[in-house]
Amino acid sequence: MNLDHISLLDHHAHSVWPEAAWQTAPFAAYFTEAYDPQVLDEHTPHGIFYLRSVRDLAAFYGCEATPDAVLSARAGKPYLELSRRLIAAANIREVLIDDGFLKRELMSFEECGAAFPWTVRRILRLETELAGLVPQHENAGTLLDAFEALLRREAPNLAALKSVIAYRTGLDIRRWSNVEVEAAYTAIRRDLSPGVLPRISSQPLLDMALRVALRVACETRLPVQFHTGYGDPDLDLRLADPLLLRGLFTDPDLRGLQVVTLHCYPYTREAGYLASVYPGAYLDLGLTIPFTSQHAMRTHVQEALHLAPLSKLLFSTDASRTAELYYLGALWGRRMIGQVLEDCVSIGDLTATEAEDGAMRLLQGNAGRLYPRT
Ligand SMILES: [Zn+2]
Repeated sequence: MNLDHISLLDHHAHSVWPEAAWQTAPFAAYFTEAYDPQVLDEHTPHGIFYLRSVRDLAAFYGCEATPDAVLSARAGKPYLELSRRLIAAANIREVLIDDGFLKRELMSFEECGAAFPWTVRRILRLETELAGLVPQHENAGTLLDAFEALLRREAPNLAALKSVIAYRTGLDIRRWSNVEVEAAYTAIRRDLSPGVLPRISSQPLLDMALRVALRVACETRLPVQFHTGYGDPDLDLRLADPLLLRGLFTDPDLRGLQVVTLHCYPYTREAGYLASVYPGAYLDLGLTIPFTSQHAMRTHVQEALHLAPLSKLLFSTDASRTAELYYLGALWGRRMIGQVLEDCVSIGDLTATEAEDGAMRLLQGNAGRLYPRT
């Protein structure tokens, strides 16, 4: 099935670099979650995502399929015009941007909206906003009150909330006493350096702040995106299993909560199970597409569909830094979803009409229904 005609509602991505950073950033870093220079220099250029993407970008630029040819084909071209061409080719009509990633390095959310031909809506990254409040609050009680007030104030202007707690203390979110939270916060305040925002990695505080955010999300009907599955080496993958989130779906205090498990790889089947049994559980196919081999991408979409209904799956590019990643994400998202749905038709799991309806849902319809409009 060719899905090029379906414009994408990209429900999770990040902003792009300003031109100077784009010109100087190492090319290999686009194609991996690693940041160790040895991995970037010696191994990433032998990864399937890198090798395949050089050919994909060479086809876009009309040059020889080598990294040097790709780099020289784009060098000297007006940056914004080139980025606009890539995003237009990706056929993304709307994007939800988590602007808490590389906040100081990437274009602001507003700049990203103005620079490209798409509608942009904001996703608020919870842990980043929480860290920003720490210097002004001496105890955890006033910090959490201020955090709740901030979320309520911002909620009308947001499409979603996003948590990276998987990167910090994991998805096994527990209940803690106020005494435990205050003790944890005292330690954070003690280690504060002037002018540097803390990277909070205390489970009592993060779990408690997340509970505050989840209650606000329930009341305001804002979906909450969770990073789950693989990511950069900061992450303990064992603690990023979406099954650890089960307690959120069964908690009577969180009735109506809508959770999107992002990325999921390699826990796609687990996330698909959650999406099949809990009304508030949704699952994202991004990052795994396009960061893995075709075999893995195809398996990922197939495994998501083992159990999860077509109404519970969403596709994102999870692109960041360079418009080339939006292009590659959209290219492979459409291609893999198209291939898997076509397989489903050929073996009789879906009719052609059901597959077409499914493609519309995955690329735009489900996200359009899930994320509120302001
Ligand atoms: Zn992301």
